[in-house]
Amino acid sequence: MRKPVIAGNWKLFKTISESVALVDALKPIVDKTRSVEIVVAPVFTALSRVSEAIAGSNINLSAQNCFWEEEGAFTGEVAPKLLKDVGCSYVIIGHSERRQYFGDTDLSVNKKVKAAVSADLTPIVCVGETLAERESGSTFTVIEAQVKNSLTGIPAEVVARLIIAYEPVWAIGTGKTASDEQAQEVHLFIRELVARLFSPGAADKVRILYGGSVKPDNVKGLMAQPDIDGALVGGASLKADSFASIVNYAAS
Ligand code: PEP
Repeated sequence: MRKPVIAGNWKLFKTISESVALVDALKPIVDKTRSVEIVVAPVFTALSRVSEAIAGSNINLSAQNCFWEEEGAFTGEVAPKLLKDVGCSYVIIGHSERRQYFGDTDLSVNKKVKAAVSADLTPIVCVGETLAERESGSTFTVIEAQVKNSLTGIPAEVVARLIIAYEPVWAIGTGKTASDEQAQEVHLFIRELVARLFSPGAADKVRILYGGSVKPDNVKGLMAQPDIDGALVGGASLKADSFASIVNYAAS
């Protein structure tokens, strides 16, 4: 059985005190939840204080990006071991906004994933097609190349422990969600691809999250799909009540 993961990507929102206030509001509404792994990804500057605020709770900490080197003359970068040091257990890698605005490529994603795994972080590796790619019928070709190139050289037993997030770019922050069937179709494709590229065991274990305008009112249908193992949530993770409703999707 794959334990569902609900992860909130706070992007470039919230000061330190707003971030702490959000987890303080979230904690009591999700503290009975055991069946879901809960993850929040604040901005770098808030990680330390959010880490203290969630200590001893069932909320886990993620960063939104990392570099691939451990240390050195790399001004402005943050190494995976420093994320571990501040209390992260996850790191989002290759989010489409990073691919679009900051030059992340499958090659850099691959280096970051390897570095994150070496630092004992669980990478949440993002893939997804643009609207133009979907409309031209190349969704599966694009996803196949992203998964293959982002995970190249990683042993099957490590792939089994990774999280992959399928986030169609046209659904991120747009209010347009992929239908349950559209999402399931790509998730199944990714799982079969992992079986082919790595091993059936890795495919069975790897968790594949859906991301793209997940809200309290559409999460249940998505989570009912056999190959959807959770959600990466942007906008709806910025308020405690909407994120908690998504975390507690099974109770609604
Ligand atoms: C995201 O940031 O990964 C995301 C899916 O955003 P939203 O839920 O706002 O579409």
